[in-house]
Parts: sequence; C-alpha cells; structure tokens
Amino acid sequence: MNKKAIISGKNWSASDYAEGILRGDRVVLSRAITLVESSRPEHRELAQQVLEKCLPHSGNSFRIGITGPPGVGKSSFIEAFGNYIVQEQGYKLAVLAIDPSSQVSGGSILGDKTRMEKLSLESNAFIRPSPAGSSLGGVANCTHESMLLCEAAGFEMIFIETVGVGQSETAVAGMVDFFMLLLLPGAGDELQGIKRGIVEMADILAVNKADGDRIELAKSARKDYAQALHLFSEKPSGWLPKAVTCSANSGEGLPEIWKLIADYQAIVKLNGWFNENRKAQLAAWFSSQLEQSIHRFFFENPVVKSALEAQKQAVLEGKISPTNAAHQLLDLFLKSLPK
Ligand code: GDP
Repeated sequence: MNKKAIISGKNWSASDYAEGILRGDRVVLSRAITLVESSRPEHRELAQQVLEKCLPHSGNSFRIGITGPPGVGKSSFIEAFGNYIVQEQGYKLAVLAIDPSSQVSGGSILGDKTRMEKLSLESNAFIRPSPAGSSLGGVANCTHESMLLCEAAGFEMIFIETVGVGQSETAVAGMVDFFMLLLLPGAGDELQGIKRGIVEMADILAVNKADGDRIELAKSARKDYAQALHLFSEKPSGWLPKAVTCSANSGEGLPEIWKLIADYQAIVKLNGWFNENRKAQLAAWFSSQLEQSIHRFFFENPVVKSALEAQKQAVLEGKISPTNAAHQLLDLFLKSLPK
C-alpha cells in the first residue's frame, strides 16, 4: 500500500483492508466498517471480499447484547462496565450498536453521546455508533458484519447495544452469546415499555441506578424480578437467569455482573451450548441472507419492476386474485431469466 493510499483510503484492495484489520489497526477497521455500511454495489462487493478474508480470524470473542429502555443508563453502564473489563480484566473491547430508529431521530444511540468519554480514549476499546440504516434488517446486517471485523482485529469482548423497546432485541439475540437487560428501579417492566419476550430472553436482569436514595427501591425491584424469573422455564443453555442491582455511577455491582458472566461462560462452554448456539445462529444468518438475496434478485429484475404496479392495480380492481397475480409475476420473472 502506498502512502497516499494509506491517507485517503482510496483504491485499497481487499487484502489492504484485511492486513490492516488483522494487524489491529483501528483506522483501517473503521474504514472497513464504513465499507460494510455502504449501500453502493461496488462497496458491498469489496466489503464481502474483506469479510471473506477476515472470517477465518473471527469468532474468538464473547458477544454480549445489552438492552434496556431509553434513559435506563445503557451508555453510562457500558462506559463503566467497559472500563472495568478493559482496565481491571485486561480485555480488548468493541462496542457496537443496533439502532434502526437513528434515521428517524437523526442521531444514533452511541453517536450523539459523549458519556463514553473515558472508554473512547482507551487504546483497548473501540466504539462504533449505529449506522444510519434504512431498515432493521439492513442495520442488523451491518452490525453483524462489523462484529466479525472487530473480532478479526483482535477484540475479545463485543458489546452490542440496542434500545429495549422494539424488535431489534431479537436481531441482537440472534448474534450474541449472552443477553443483558437493564431496568430502572421502581417501575414495572410494562411501565418501562419492556415486552415480556425481552425479559424472557435476558440472561441477566440488572436494576441500574442502585445508588443514593434509590438503593432500597432497586433492591426491592431486584427481588421482584428474581421471583418473576423463577416462573420461567429453564433456558436451553442450562443457565438460570439472574436478577442483580448495579450502579453505573458508583460502580457498585459491576464485579458481580462480571463474575456471573464468567460463570455463564464456563457453564455453556462445558455443556456444549456455546458452540451449538453459535452454529444455530450461523444457520439462521445463512437463511436470512439467502432470503434477502432472493428478495433483492426478484424485485430488482427489470421485468418484475415494470409489471409489478400493473399487477397490483389489477388486484385492487378485483380483476385477478392476489395469488394468481403473484404466480403470474413469478412466471414473468422465470421467463426473463437467461436460458
Ligand atoms: P441510555 O439512554 O439508556 O443510554 O441512558 P444514559 O446512559 O444516557 O443515562 C440516562 C441518565 O441516567 C443520565 O443522566 C445518566 O447520568 C443517568 N444514569 C445512568 N446510570 C446511572 C446510575 O447508575 N445512577 C444514577 N444515579 N444515574 C445514572
């Protein structure tokens, strides 16, 4: 790579990117993630080549999903817990986000925050805001691929942050090894806009802001959650979810959370769930990529594009049934393919 190319990043080959990433060069990693996030076809193609080269070096991290309602303290928690993991435990940590709402609000959950100030200065931490994607699927794709690049760059711990109010948790759960839900003291999860399904996905429920005059409130919330957890059936991972209290401000409870995560890791690696789950996630990832490719291939076909509107109109006017219209469109598509 010549010097000019290093500065501009232009005309980099897939090998240039891959070498930089495997060296742990954060600037190259950042640029590769930008490439992954790009919707331009030539960027997508190059991104896939980079990913292909990095794939054999990925997968060696522990992946943690962190969710919770807005204002619960996710960024503050990631700042505090991230610093603990990097400084006290000596890990290299990458923080990514899935936030499909960022296009609506104009900002992203990590991007407009200055609270991870200390963590962002750590040489062993890498923080990347959510891409401004157009759909949850698109954003989730980018995050998944960015995660693989971070792993190839040597990050051993990955946090994926998401706002715990929508569907993005399911997407996150599909790419992490461990799922954490942060909750506020003194309000039921329904009040916090957290769906029961999300509570059931969590491996740890952490009542944050357990400090000052909220300590007692947090303790009693923890007790309620611990009782509620007993009602859930045991997870296929063999892990019994735990309810804890913590404070991102005082640092209280963070070592205990780390200890639980270590216990979890030991259990799921021993009982085989860790590998099984990774394989199941890969299979699901493959299926969804396949579906997306087929979808794109079909709807970007010029014949389909030009006939779609007329078919839809015919359906709306009652001239043809939706099923027949769909079959006709599929026929047109198949006939348009080169023999
Ligand atoms: P997010 O929207 O979930 O990312 O929440 P933030 O990290 O932005 O925090 C929302 C507000 O809660 C901020 O004013 C934080 O200073 C405050 N906060 C976060 N964690 C704690 C905590 O552990 N204790 C207290 N007292 N305040 C906190």
